[in-house]
Amino acid sequence: MRGTAVPEIVRFAAENTTQTGDILGLGTEQRVRWAKGLLPRGPVNGTVFYSGEMYPVMGYAEGAFRMLKRLEGFMDVNSLARVGPLMRKLGIYRVGARALWGGLNEKYQRALRDAVYVLRKLGVEMGYLFEDEPPSGVALHTYGLLREFKEHAEWVSRRLEELGVRRIITLDPIVATAFRLYYPEFVKDWRVEALHFVEIVAREMARQGVRLRLSRRVRVTYHDPCYLARTLGVVDEVRFILGRIEGVELVEPPRHGVNTGCSGDGGLELTQPPLARKVSYERIEELSGTGAERVLTSCPACIMMLRTGFDSMNLGLGVDDLASLVAEAMRNGVEREVETDAGEERREKLFFKRYRVLPRSPEPKSLELDDLAEMLLWETDKCKKCGFCNVECPTYRALDRLESRSARGRMTLINSLVRGDPVRPRAVLDRLYSCVLCGQCSQSCPVGLHVQELIVYGRAYAIYSGRAGVGPGA
Ligand code: SF4
Ligand code: SF4
Repeated sequence: MRGTAVPEIVRFAAENTTQTGDILGLGTEQRVRWAKGLLPRGPVNGTVFYSGEMYPVMGYAEGAFRMLKRLEGFMDVNSLARVGPLMRKLGIYRVGARALWGGLNEKYQRALRDAVYVLRKLGVEMGYLFEDEPPSGVALHTYGLLREFKEHAEWVSRRLEELGVRRIITLDPIVATAFRLYYPEFVKDWRVEALHFVEIVAREMARQGVRLRLSRRVRVTYHDPCYLARTLGVVDEVRFILGRIEGVELVEPPRHGVNTGCSGDGGLELTQPPLARKVSYERIEELSGTGAERVLTSCPACIMMLRTGFDSMNLGLGVDDLASLVAEAMRNGVEREVETDAGEERREKLFFKRYRVLPRSPEPKSLELDDLAEMLLWETDKCKKCGFCNVECPTYRALDRLESRSARGRMTLINSLVRGDPVRPRAVLDRLYSCVLCGQCSQSCPVGLHVQELIVYGRAYAIYSGRAGVGPGA
């Protein structure tokens, strides 16, 4: 990775992911401590709860994100990537992070514990791999380090097989997407099933006829994470779960389900935090406009963006993982319907509709530059420059309609780079790293371009062509 056009902060996160198993490099102990005494070690009937490399340390990321906002103008995100390893050498990295942001992190670790509580109450049998849990490496994919991702994913596949894992349940939809969509593309004979928490909870609640009750009435709104709703097509399960909790009133924001808006993450929170914040404000206004008392969602990165956004706009709305609300209701007891005519409806609900809104992802023959170029040219040449995608693009709107930060602009840049026009890989990479990979563009493209996948492959081309010395940005 060294010697490439990759920004320092991306290198920092990618190296941490593969070396210590979490994006911040805080180490195994910090990553697994939330599960001590809660779950048996190793898979149970082939099933594990998988915490991933973000959720267990997301409070530290939130702390750093807040600090960067305060220090804007004095310190940028790449300086953080330089300070981290230095503090680690001095032996003060973990201690310092824990002293500063340990309290914030506790909220995220509590959500993991709540998820395990809910699953066990529903009778789901599973273990946890503790320090043996191999990181999914999804950050490598996000940032276009696709050769590194492939190598890592092949190792993860072998490791999970050795450990006897056949099914993964996770609270993180980005990790679920990696295991369900990216691994089958990059790893031959990938056989592990990956489920997001809400899928299995909805299915079990339907099968068992579960009804829950809160001891208070609460008006909530739900932010559908892009990865869960638009990419994996998981929408109905959330509404089903909330509909089964007495005391909950759901008010939907104008954009919801597969048409959800972006909260500003998708990797942008790490590469360009000021822009990520700007993107989040639009969504925050929509969510607060619902009049809800509480915002629920199902993604650690969305929680971070929404929590920090509500605070900076002084809107005082709390944000929780859906798992925590379900756990709260379950602590009041779990009612199971006796078998009646409702049994038929229940059986139907075991198969929730799986929405498919994104076009098929293009696959190059290999990750060699020529093959990447062939696929990227073939696809980006189809672009009609109609700009329907720009209307939907949140980074374009957040930056006063700057073409180079729009979906169409990024397609044009990738095309120019691959054609050998005078553009610099490093500059192209900077524009491509300003994308949140939300997929709203792909949803509205009349020629069926999977724009955000092309952006990931475009990142890979810019990185590897930059390393090869193509163009002055190398
Ligand atoms: S280019 Fe597409 S995926 Fe990227 S921010 Fe714009 S709409 Fe989202
Ligand atoms: S909507 Fe599709 S065809 Fe139209 S400009 Fe965007 S990427 Fe090109």
